[in-house]
Amino acid sequence: MNDLTDLYQSVILDHNRRPRNRGKLPTANRVAHGDNPSCGDQCSVFLRLEGDRIADISFDGAGCAISQASASLMTTQLKGKTAAEAQALYDQFHHIVTTGEPPEEINDIAAFAGVHSFPARIKCATLGWHAALNALKNDPTEATTETHKD
Ligand code: ZN
Repeated sequence: MNDLTDLYQSVILDHNRRPRNRGKLPTANRVAHGDNPSCGDQCSVFLRLEGDRIADISFDGAGCAISQASASLMTTQLKGKTAAEAQALYDQFHHIVTTGEPPEEINDIAAFAGVHSFPARIKCATLGWHAALNALKNDPTEATTETHKD
């Protein structure tokens, strides 16, 4: 299990060092911004939605390592997914970061299981996901962690 923990920590470090899909997406037709004032994290998510499917996705922002690595990983997870699949993945991710229980299938999102030991950081880990779900719903209100339970 220790090897697995190391592997997952390396996933977070890797996304910090080399963020995926970072920067504005010129072809985006949906944008949402997320703000986590308790930590000072910011995250904008850009989507190109084709029908019900996320054809392309990117994020841009600044903040702590957890928030930025999580947003980077989120973009790799949601690309190509439908809105319903994206919501299901977020539900899985939320379960992992709040309980520390790994998913049934091995998935990089389990790298964030350790976050459950640091409740204040759960908002950091979910920020990008909240912004992405708001973009999917075309909800123009800013996703702020203060309006969510976590
Ligand atoms: Zn943070």
